[in-house]
Formats: sequence, structure tokens, C-alpha cells
Amino acid sequence: MSLNERVQEEIEALEAILMDDISVSYGDNGCPELVKSTIFPSTADDTDKQYVCVTLEVKLPGDYPDCEPLVQLRNPRGLDDTTLNHLYRAIKDKCNEFIGQPVIYELIELIRENLTESNLPTCHCAVCLYGFSEGDSFTKTQCFHYFHSYCLAMHLITTEKHFIEEQEKLPTWQKSTTGFQASCPVCREPINCDVQELKNALPPRELEKAQNFQVTKELQMLQAQMRQLFIYQKSRGGIIDVEAEENKLLLITESSENSPGDDSGPSLPPSDPPPNNGVLGRQPRTTSSR
Ligand SMILES: [Zn+2]
Ligand SMILES: [Zn+2]
Repeated sequence: MSLNERVQEEIEALEAILMDDISVSYGDNGCPELVKSTIFPSTADDTDKQYVCVTLEVKLPGDYPDCEPLVQLRNPRGLDDTTLNHLYRAIKDKCNEFIGQPVIYELIELIRENLTESNLPTCHCAVCLYGFSEGDSFTKTQCFHYFHSYCLAMHLITTEKHFIEEQEKLPTWQKSTTGFQASCPVCREPINCDVQELKNALPPRELEKAQNFQVTKELQMLQAQMRQLFIYQKSRGGIIDVEAEENKLLLITESSENSPGDDSGPSLPPSDPPPNNGVLGRQPRTTSSR
């Protein structure tokens, strides 16, 4: 059996088992080139209990299965880098072990087993940046992003308040007709959540344990440095002063004295040499004479 026939046979078997859960792209020569499948943990089809997922992409080189395929994990949800790296290592070992034999189904099973074992988000809450500790109440959005229920509630309450405030400033014809639509703080997908219910959750444990913010000596020094840098950048025109910009007038002078072909553009007053207040010890740039 030729290599291509062996690959075709493997793909047919995969399609028979996984049906719509797999997609195959073919190259110009009609050979399968790329196999994709989004994998979820086994939870007896209870999708509410699936907290992690990942899309497996397998590129099949011309001499597959006699060489290793190129494997990528895309769009991981609820998985941190450590978990992903562990998964990549396991995939590499599996591919090595199966050189000369069909490996795609083995990879799917391997990933599914791993996801089932770690079917708890190992990522961080994008609102408070803390992880999920034992006992924390968390929410999985439809887009597979995770937040402490408390944090998501606070985020939604704040964004809705902001939305209403902004709407009040608008003339009637510009006001939204659909009202506030909650969206995921990470990917902005529209989400439907019961804010009242989320609000009842306790704050995340790590947030509760966190020390109160204090302005330390180091922070004060950093503030002083940044203040100096700000003044320096402002003096060099690097900071846009909104107030000054609003008061600026643009003068356009039209002159009829210019003869055609003598258009040297509007004349500008000679600019002052750039000030050097030496905060960063830099020399002012020398202007080259034309
Ligand atoms: Zn949080
Ligand atoms: Zn999202």
C-alpha cells in the first residue's frame, strides 16, 4: 500500500469515528495535508462541565506516516503554559513512538485524557489576575474564558454603569436602541450572565489575602523619576498637551507674489533650537544646514 493510500485510510477511519468533530484540508495533489479537531474533556457530553479545550492541528508532510507529523495546539482555553508544555512533550513522545503508523487518533485520545485529568481552569482570572483556588466560585463564559464569579460581576456592573453614563451624554438620535450588552472582558464576545447571581459569590481567596496597596520608598523614587521624564518629554514636544492643542490657531497665509515654479511652500519662522534641560544627559540634536 502506498503512503498516500495509508493516509487516506487513516483519514477515512477518523471521519467515521469523529464525524463532524474533524476537518481535513487537501493539497493540490488531492492528498490530505491538514487535520484539525477541537478536543474537549470527556464529561459524558455534559458540556457545562467542560472547562478546558484546545484545537489540535496536524500537518501531514509528504512522507507521513514514515516521518513525524507537525503538531500545533491552537486556541487553548483554561490551560496555562505549564499544562500546554506538558501536553506538547507527551505529543512529541507519542509521535516518536508511532513513526510508520497512523498517529492522529492516538494524539486525539492522548489530549482528551490529559484534558479530562486537568478539567479545571489552570489560567488566571483576567479581572483580578489571581488564579483559581480551591473553593473559589468561578464562571466559564460561552467563549471558554474564566473569571471569578465575583470579579465578572464587578466588571459587568462597572461596564453597565459606564455605558449608561455615556448614553446620557448622547443626543437622542445617537442613543443605543438595544441597551447594554454584556461582553467578555477578554475577547468581547457577547455573553449572557445573571449578574445578580454572580454578585452573591464571595471574592476570590487570593484577593482577600492580598496585602493592601502601599506607596513604598521605591515607588516614590520611581514616581519622581517618571515626573522628571514627563517634563523632559513635554519640553521636547513628545507629549501632546490637550489644552495647548485646543488653543492653537492654524494660520494659512496666501501669497500671490509667488511666480509659477517658485513654490517653496509656506514659509515657517525659524524654530528655536531644541531646549536641553539635560534630564537624560542627551545633547540637543544639531540641525544640518541646507
Ligand atoms: Zn478574579
Ligand atoms: Zn471570551
